[in-house]
Amino acid sequence: MRGLPPGVKVTPMLSQYLEWKEKYPHCILFFRMGDFYEMFFDDARKASEILDITLTARDPDKSIPMAGVPWHSMQPYLARLVRAGCSVAICDQITEPDGRTLVERKVVRIVTPGTYVPEEAGTGGHLAALIPSGEFYALALLSVETGRLEAGLFPPSEALSILGSFAPGELLVPSGFSLPKDFPLAGEFFLLPRPKEFFSPLSGTRLLKQTWKVASLGTFGVRDDSPEAGCAAAALRYLSETQFGAVDHVRRVHPLLSREHLLLDGATAEHLELVDEEGPSLFSCLNRCRNAMGKRMLREWILRPLLHADPLKIRHDSVEFLLAEGDRRRSLRNLLGECRDIQRATSRLSLGTGTPRDMGALRDTLRLLPSLLPLCEGALSPWIKDLPDFSPLGDLLNEALEEDLPRNPASGGIIRRGFDPELDEWRAVETGATDWLEAYLERVRAETGISRLKAGFNKIYGYYLEVSRGALSSVPGDFQRKQTLVNAERFVTPEMKTFEEKMNRAGEEISRREGELYDRLRQEAAFFLEGLQALGESLASLDVLASLAEVARERGYVRPELDDSGDFFVTGGRHPVVEQILTDSPFVPNSYSLEGDGKRIVLLTGPNMAGKSTYLRTAALLILLAQMGSFIPAESARMGLFDRIFTRIGARDDLARGSSTFMVEMVETASILSNLTDRSLVILDEVGRGTSTYDGMSIAWAVLEHLAEGCGCLPKVLFATHFHELTCLEERFPSIVNLSMAVKEEGGEIFFLHQVVRGSADRSYGIEVARLAGLPRPVLKRAFDLLKRFEKEERTGSMARKKRPADEGRQMKLFDSARQGILEELAETDPDGLTPFRALELLYSLREKSREVLRNENIPSS
Ligand code: ATP
Repeated sequence: MRGLPPGVKVTPMLSQYLEWKEKYPHCILFFRMGDFYEMFFDDARKASEILDITLTARDPDKSIPMAGVPWHSMQPYLARLVRAGCSVAICDQITEPDGRTLVERKVVRIVTPGTYVPEEAGTGGHLAALIPSGEFYALALLSVETGRLEAGLFPPSEALSILGSFAPGELLVPSGFSLPKDFPLAGEFFLLPRPKEFFSPLSGTRLLKQTWKVASLGTFGVRDDSPEAGCAAAALRYLSETQFGAVDHVRRVHPLLSREHLLLDGATAEHLELVDEEGPSLFSCLNRCRNAMGKRMLREWILRPLLHADPLKIRHDSVEFLLAEGDRRRSLRNLLGECRDIQRATSRLSLGTGTPRDMGALRDTLRLLPSLLPLCEGALSPWIKDLPDFSPLGDLLNEALEEDLPRNPASGGIIRRGFDPELDEWRAVETGATDWLEAYLERVRAETGISRLKAGFNKIYGYYLEVSRGALSSVPGDFQRKQTLVNAERFVTPEMKTFEEKMNRAGEEISRREGELYDRLRQEAAFFLEGLQALGESLASLDVLASLAEVARERGYVRPELDDSGDFFVTGGRHPVVEQILTDSPFVPNSYSLEGDGKRIVLLTGPNMAGKSTYLRTAALLILLAQMGSFIPAESARMGLFDRIFTRIGARDDLARGSSTFMVEMVETASILSNLTDRSLVILDEVGRGTSTYDGMSIAWAVLEHLAEGCGCLPKVLFATHFHELTCLEERFPSIVNLSMAVKEEGGEIFFLHQVVRGSADRSYGIEVARLAGLPRPVLKRAFDLLKRFEKEERTGSMARKKRPADEGRQMKLFDSARQGILEELAETDPDGLTPFRALELLYSLREKSREVLRNENIPSS
């Protein structure tokens, strides 16, 4: 065998392992051995690191590294491996071990980051395919857990933005293709290069038409032989490859239309903390959902807000209706809380990974419909229209299934007594066993006079009689001795053997019959598959709407008025997440007044910690809430519909993709400037702060000018900055308005009022904020002295060594002070008190500081 470490003895079992491993070289092979999935060699090493499990060895020479996980609790291990980007091939035992021959094994499923649907609630199974097509990208999104496949053709920026929101675990792309470097895509996903033919529009269309038995994909609104059809087919093909064909739950492709959704790129979703798993997020603030389907859909609605008024009106009308009708809302939410995740259950049953409990989830949910559906009147009726009558399936599952169901179909106890006469008969044989055994014992006791006689069962001899040592002389001749214990002996008798055979037969027949009946139930459920998927969507939507109504009631949200003005007028707007977190003081509401083609750019200045970022983010979140169908935290609002929200907020680096903090900042800014539209909202928070002061201010200045005049469209812009020099642009550009954060100074202390007012701020109060943050007193004092000196010098102009523009004055002083700082540091040095190492460190540090000063003054250093 190739690649085996020297000295490894290839047993039949190992040879079987190696055969399967050779077929799935890129997967970690989970090789079922009894109660464990074992991994060997490199797989074992890798898995033991990722899963933090013990690495042992299969053989005494320790030449076969091995690690294992228990088969009955493999789910969390699978989830961790998949999160780490591994694919896992599950190789199961397909024959029963008989102790003599080698058990047959077979890979039955492959679990990959994009196709894994975790057993417990959570998101998973997001797979995407993307191919370039002329100037466009074709894109397909497949949600394995709901079976929804979507495909469309988009300009690259739109495609990548949709992709970012969908957050696939895996992305199929043609070999040789790489994503544009300047696209800020948040989140982790794994690229799967495939040959070009894998995405072929022609063969893809053929495959999809055959799979769904339609004459044309036009039936679903997707063009035949189009690149998007090729992409959809690629996604389905990959799912089929990994699930060994079990893709029945993907029943059609939905057209993914350009300009259907407000676009948020990955960076925006991250900057605005929309769906962060850890910590407070918009999701956690809106989530009053009562079931897993609702939670999943809430996430989707947040990440894919709508762009058109009609569907939004349906959502807003529904929230209003549920808000007004408190009793209905409460009853509905209670029932929704009892609904199980039928989307996941249906998918898992189709994928062949479902359990009787998934079937139970369908039964339990269908039971609720007679109470739940009548509540969905009036504004809620659009959400349940076109649902089929589920009573045939509901009745069947009610009659057939036990209340408490096992996870494992093979463990029995699935079918209710009284449902099937044949099964009942065999079960009667089994339950009669105890009675028969007791009667038999009585008889043997009477016949032999052995009073201390027990019956028992073990795997090796089957049923036996146990006779205590003192009574051995009374044992009849046809008792066959099987085992000797300390105080007793065990015997089997011909009658017990006959009884045992009957029992075995009954056990087998029960399993067989239950299996047949369970399969029939699965077929019935499969018949209702599309209806169940639609029902899942309806229940999820109702859960989200009820959750939004509940939040609106709790927190006093109002319905936004949407029009096509392009304006953004809000009075008393609040940040939905921050207002929930604040405990000591109430959130201070602020207003927004951005006009479609008038004052549409806010330049916001103000101290650190005064609330600038919060004001900016609030605007984005209010728009997003309005366009996902929610009410919003404000007194009133009138706004046009936005098509893109761009954000450049905060400092983050992307070391994994080889970008520094400033590089990320510039990449994101570049991406914003090249994708603007009239209906965009642009949020720029302290652009230019990641580099030297001159560079940063120049970039910020130029970006603002571009947005005001040079970008060829009229986006709404909120621009926060500490470069106060920029505020003079208000005079030059009629579209710019200066706003600032109000601050009160009293008794030498500052108080942030968090109130946005007209006009610009004149200072940053950075040192006060540093004091609040607990910087050491000597550092604060030194900073304060330096500040006073700079301010004085600026007034007198004494440090000006060369002529420079007035608005650059203060920045220049910073460089002068840097020179001064270097001199002072040198003057204070005590060379005798330094170790050689510390002296060298100091020298390096001084050299760096000097170079920085020279750089900033444009003097080359050698
Ligand atoms: P920096 O310039 O240092 O980044 P900033 O001006 O952007 O600061 P924010 O980060 O927006 O300030 O706000 C600082 C803190 O002030 C927030 O964490 C929040 O607790 C509080 N805050 C902000 N806005 C408000 C408000 N409108 N009402 C009450 N508290 C607020």
